[in-house]
Amino acid sequence: MPANRVVQGRMVTAKKLAEIIEDGSVMETEAIEDADRDCPDCGENVIKVTYMPSVTELVTGYKCQECDWRDADRN
Ligand SMILES: [Zn+2]
Repeated sequence: MPANRVVQGRMVTAKKLAEIIEDGSVMETEAIEDADRDCPDCGENVIKVTYMPSVTELVTGYKCQECDWRDADRN
């Protein structure tokens, strides 16, 4: 299973993707998956990654592969 994906022209790991969405460092990440939704800004593909920014938080982050759009569900 490919662990890395292209985001805005750059190959990123799950950890790097989570750090882009969080705008900071993260502790743990799961694999990148397709989010099955289109970007509300540009209509391109959105990918998602579940990560832990701290020991007490689990976040599902979303990122457009083509523009700056991103979002996060904080559980
Ligand atoms: Zn977009």
